[in-house]
Amino acid sequence: MQRLGISLLLFISSLAWAGDKYLAIVIDDLGNNRTLGERAVALPAPITFAVLPNRPFSSALAERAFQNGHELMLHQPMANHSGFPLGAHGLTPDMTDSERLITLHEALASVPHARGFNNHLGSLLTENKQAMDALFQQHLPAMYFVDSVTTANSNAYSSAKLHGWPVTKRDVFLDHEATVDFVSQQMLYAMRLLDEKGHALVIGHPYEATLSYLELALPILADSGITLLPVSQYIERFGSNAEHLAEQKAEQKDEQKIEAQVEHVVR
Ligand SMILES: [Zn+2]
Repeated sequence: MQRLGISLLLFISSLAWAGDKYLAIVIDDLGNNRTLGERAVALPAPITFAVLPNRPFSSALAERAFQNGHELMLHQPMANHSGFPLGAHGLTPDMTDSERLITLHEALASVPHARGFNNHLGSLLTENKQAMDALFQQHLPAMYFVDSVTTANSNAYSSAKLHGWPVTKRDVFLDHEATVDFVSQQMLYAMRLLDEKGHALVIGHPYEATLSYLELALPILADSGITLLPVSQYIERFGSNAEHLAEQKAEQKDEQKIEAQVEHVVR
């Protein structure tokens, strides 16, 4: 607790500047753990929650997050160099292009209110330019993509951009060491990025350390003049091909129409 206090003092002291600053916070990996998931979606809005497809608590947590005013996206599992298991609906290099597309569409359909997707793991598949080009060739109305950048050689962002997807990428991972000290250090780094370029997208996970930090830091952030943006609005301001997101807003209201389009693609 003392460490958390010191971390927050450091955080507050890093906020001593003026001007428009925009931060998007994504929390990945929702769906497997109910207790931590419920704690995460109770955070003050707007956070964007990236939900794993068809996990035990995916639907319930997505609905709860939506009711609490958060944005949702699919957290799409992709093959990685470390051999971590992907679980349901993973995309792998040995699938055909159309098998990967069908799997993506099924995964998207399993996350209520999903506005887009980012990659879970994926260091292997996102390096595969052919696979990324084939995946993003299909432009889905009002859907965006966030490259989690799990490898320095990811082609996902450039492929999505090339094919007209509204797209951005991760700047900072908050918690690849799940300690309050580390989360604090990463948030300070994000504040430096805000100072330099005015905006940043950070990704964390529903870990005890991350949630404890954010539960205390977010109310401070809200009073600091930094604007928290859901990812769709972050992309509208700072992403590529944002016009596709804006143009298709009207269509997005008609959820049945989108469902019909997804169905069509799946068949
Ligand atoms: Zn993940």
